[in-house]
Amino acid sequence: KLFNEVQELKGNIRVHCRIRPFLPGEDQTSTTIEYVGDNGELILANPAKRGKEGHKLFKFNKVLGPSASQDEVFKEIQPLIRSVLDGYNVCIFAYGQTGSGKTYTMTGPENATEKDWGVNYRALNDLFHISRSRRDTVMYKVSVQMIEIYNEQIHDLLGNSGLENRSVGATALNERSSRSHSVVTMHIQGDRLKEAQHINKSLSALGDVIFSLSQKNAHVPYRNSKLTQVLQNSLGGHAKTLMFVQVNPDVSSYAETLSTLKFADRVS
Ligand code: ADP
Repeated sequence: KLFNEVQELKGNIRVHCRIRPFLPGEDQTSTTIEYVGDNGELILANPAKRGKEGHKLFKFNKVLGPSASQDEVFKEIQPLIRSVLDGYNVCIFAYGQTGSGKTYTMTGPENATEKDWGVNYRALNDLFHISRSRRDTVMYKVSVQMIEIYNEQIHDLLGNSGLENRSVGATALNERSSRSHSVVTMHIQGDRLKEAQHINKSLSALGDVIFSLSQKNAHVPYRNSKLTQVLQNSLGGHAKTLMFVQVNPDVSSYAETLSTLKFADRVS
């Protein structure tokens, strides 16, 4: 109930910023994340500027620090997810640079056990659990759709076995690179150029849509990209949207982190 009230006040878009921990092998001696507050505040420090000038304060609905567990991350959005059962459309997505933990938050790590499950599995599990407990009085019909938008084309992933069907980009391939990788990478980088333009197009269209929703504009430009068309019913109107903003803690990601946080700041 409290959540719904806050939601009314804040509009339809909530933003949770999640900072991933340092990974083994990363230089852990310095970070750009200067401060994380319980109240959703975060201070980003510019490694090249000292003093007040080099510090920027951001405020989101919630900031989840590097030690936040998958369960904590989920608990924060559980009421939002359950509002699906009250007839709301709910859209949850993750935004951030490659390697910042989007997949980890939404799906979980590879070969995840239940403890590491991401939001998607937990949400389905929770909703099934509730619908089962109410089965004497209510019958819920649950359907799941999984798509991928790639180069402005929509692929139905469930048509052919879910996640395995995702296009694997150069970055994912990097992690599993073999000696012949450079050839593969050149091929993929060629695609990536085009892909990057499409990604930018979708993202800027998404930014525009979310911004105009947060401003409560009468005209919302959904039709500017496939991504926003697909999400139209999940954004705005009778919908609640939550964006995870994912950031890396390391100093070398400073510029990307700043631009990610600015994007999120624009919409929250
Ligand atoms: P993205 O999907 O944004 O490219 P990933 O989700 O693949 O990023 O995360 C990059 C790496 O960081 C992966 O190895 C992932 O397991 C790890 N990682 C991300 N977030 C966390 C976290 N909160 N705790 C532990 N490891 C994480």
